[in-house]
Amino acid sequence: MGMTMTEKVLAGHAGRKSAVPGDNIWVDVDILMTHDVCGPGTIGIFRKQFGPTARVWDREKVIIIPDHYIFTNDQHAHRNIDVLRAFVKEQDLPYYYDVGTDKYKGVCHIALPEEGHTRPGEVLFGTDSHTCTAGAFGEFATGIGNTDAALIMGIGKLWVKVPETMRFEFEGPLPPYLMAKDLILHIIGDIGVDGATYRAMEFAGDGVMSLSIEERMTLCNMVIEAGGKNGIIPVDAVTEAFVKSKTAKPYQPVADDRDARFHSRRRYKTADIQPTVAKPHSPDNRGTARECKGTRLDRAYIGSCTGGKLNDFMAAAKILKGRQVKADTYIVPATTEVAKGLATTRLDGQTLAEIFQQAGAKISQGASCAACLGGPSDTFGRLNKSEVCISTTNRNFPGRMGSKTAQVYLASPYTVAASAIRGEITDPREFLYQPELPRPHGLEDGPGLSGLALHGGGLRDQGGNHRPARVPVSGASL
Ligand code: SF4
Repeated sequence: MGMTMTEKVLAGHAGRKSAVPGDNIWVDVDILMTHDVCGPGTIGIFRKQFGPTARVWDREKVIIIPDHYIFTNDQHAHRNIDVLRAFVKEQDLPYYYDVGTDKYKGVCHIALPEEGHTRPGEVLFGTDSHTCTAGAFGEFATGIGNTDAALIMGIGKLWVKVPETMRFEFEGPLPPYLMAKDLILHIIGDIGVDGATYRAMEFAGDGVMSLSIEERMTLCNMVIEAGGKNGIIPVDAVTEAFVKSKTAKPYQPVADDRDARFHSRRRYKTADIQPTVAKPHSPDNRGTARECKGTRLDRAYIGSCTGGKLNDFMAAAKILKGRQVKADTYIVPATTEVAKGLATTRLDGQTLAEIFQQAGAKISQGASCAACLGGPSDTFGRLNKSEVCISTTNRNFPGRMGSKTAQVYLASPYTVAASAIRGEITDPREFLYQPELPRPHGLEDGPGLSGLALHGGGLRDQGGNHRPARVPVSGASL
């Protein structure tokens, strides 16, 4: 019987010719990632179970990326980093991206591909639920707890039940006002926050394959919000070009067999999907930006592993350029590489950072998770009272971004930027959708996750306001 991509990766890493959903198998691990929140706990369990002098199973395969509680005066947060440093020194681990050094990266799920640690056909576990982001590279990637991670540290294997695969196909390239965030919020609205519990979510169709690698990451990033075990996307030239630009390590891509069996198949026409939001307090509380029009906002937040990549900021800049925000707007680059991109990538002659500053947004001086997870009370962008926020992040449960009395709407960078300008939830088509405009001219390219050319541009209307041109969001263009 044929296998899905997920089944094939897991079977191969168990030394088997085949595997079917429900099989329990020992899987060899290619990469184990941990960070400042779960790393200390994992290290403690590893020492307790394997002994104080134990060594990790493979020092080339353990990646430690501090990213969550970084730019804070909180002493507990600093203590976590101290524990990581001591462990890295003791184990002589080569892949540690320490705070306060040139190696510091920022958010782990974006740092991993930037540093060449995400490769097709591999198995990646991380002590963070959004480790599923790496499924965009055609690998099996999922979040685990500290105990599982400590076991992997010791033996390089994990006992895994093979999940069934749900397939989601999108037909047609994305309309110019949509982003991958709209697609995944739409799916989660359809199936609910438990709709994919312990199942692989495979994304396919020409709509998905026309997306840039960053946008594919956004899709896979949020499968955990539907309870998914992992997200996965077929490997194509876009994937291979990106991976080969980051690493020379060999890898073995897999593809679905023609007779692969899926738990279910859902097909969507991208043209039918509207700019989508998740209303408080759950990612499946779906609405459209139009339905929520007029909802007053105190804050707009653009950042995180979901919405803090260079393409996300380029999308926001297309709307914010030449305009002023009414809502308090926070910009948080996911990684130091994205931060460099804000300073060097230009749209109509201005850097993205200049565009955000002129629009009145506040830009974080450090790349990190920042307020996506709330964090200590001095965290940049944290919601400390009963504010209403629209955010490019991935969760909007009570207290997720700080105060339990705050309300968070999730949306794409386009919708967040449009809403920031109006101070209320706004459909980005009010700023973006101008099919009568001529094709845009090119713009300069800064460093980015995609390593692919960015194109875009804009015009000014009769009132002198910048009017972004109609440019495709999908494909290699954003
Ligand atoms: S940016 Fe947010 S969702 Fe992503 S790893 Fe950090 S806290 Fe988690």
